[in-house]
This record gives sequence, C-alpha cells and structure tokens, in this order.
Amino acid sequence: SEFVQTNLNGLLQEFVNLAFHGMRAGKNPINVSFEWDLDSEIGLVSIIAEDFSRVIVNLCNNAFDAMRSKLNLLSEGDQKPTYQPKLIIRTKQKATKIITEIEDNGAGIPEPILNKILEPFFTTKKGKEGTGLGLSITHDIVKAHKGSLAILSKEGEFTRFEISLPPISP
Ligand code: ADP
Ligand code: MG
Repeated sequence: SEFVQTNLNGLLQEFVNLAFHGMRAGKNPINVSFEWDLDSEIGLVSIIAEDFSRVIVNLCNNAFDAMRSKLNLLSEGDQKPTYQPKLIIRTKQKATKIITEIEDNGAGIPEPILNKILEPFFTTKKGKEGTGLGLSITHDIVKAHKGSLAILSKEGEFTRFEISLPPISP
C-alpha cells in the first residue's frame, strides 16, 4: 500500500462513520452521541489510509463494546438507564505531533490491566466476542507510521486513546 499525505479530519469522519454503521448493522446495536472536536488548523500527516482506517475502526469498536457493557451493567441494576453513550473524536496539533483522540464514556479499563491490553490475545471479552488482537494490530500500525499510542482511563467513567503522528516535514 501507498503512503498518502493528508489532513486527518476528513478521513476520521469517514472511518468513524464506517465503524458506527458496522456496529448499527451488527448483533447488538446501541445508540451513540458523537462530539466532534476537530482542529481545522492541523497539518498534514503521511499515512496508509487503509491501515489507518483499521486503527480508527478498532478503537471505535472497542469503545462501542465498552459503552454497551456499561449500558448492560446499569440496566441489570435498579438505576434508570439515563446513561447516554458518547464518543468524542478530537484532533489537535502540538509542536512535534498531530494528535487524534478517541474517547468513550463506557466501562473504562481497570488499572491493573491497563499495561496488558496492547498484548496480542489479551481480551476480557467472552467466547468469540473478542480475539484480543485489535489493539496489538492497532499499536503495530501506529508504530509503522512512526507514531505512538497513549491510553488514559478511569474504571466506570471513560477511556481515551491518543494517537500521535509526526507531521510531514516541509
Ligand atoms: P478485543 O476487543 O478482541 O477484546 P482488543 O485488543 O481490541 O481485543 O482489546 C483488548 C482489551 O482491552 C479488551 O478486551 C478490553 O478489556 C480492553 N479495552 C480496549 N478498549 C477499551 C475501551 N475503549 N474501554 C474499555 N476497555 C477497553
Ligand atoms: Mg477490539
């Protein structure tokens, strides 16, 4: 595949929509609100679009799973499900990197497993629901783009994946 020089904002909307429509057409669709916080000033990055689409689709699918699992947890309890799943997609430019954030308000990641989730075959999903490969592939693709992946989460509250990519040199 070929690297292309592109602004991420348009592709992000395309890939997030792809993931969302896939989830909606699947077995356990959920409603999701979207918050788009795209910085129109970000510079170009060099990506293999097909690979980068897997990164975004994997992260969105994990977010949808985490929000579905929080919905299920809350509906087992007595609480009226006032919970509204929400995905925030943000881009911003720092001096030496262009950052994309995918943040959900789902089940969150328990602190003790935070350092395991990038490992191949690590999953907390039952049966055939999870292969545990999504994040390890995602991490490999980000590294192949000379980028890095950071994760911030609070159990029960939110999870944010932050992809940093180098801007193309002028
Ligand atoms: P899989 O989705 O097949 O389980 P992944 O590699 O995509 O494999 O993710 C590994 C694990 O990381 C998941 O099973 C889950 O426990 C955790 N995880 C990943 N993304 C999130 C998220 N957005 N919220 C909560 N947990 C997550
Ligand atoms: Mg996954």
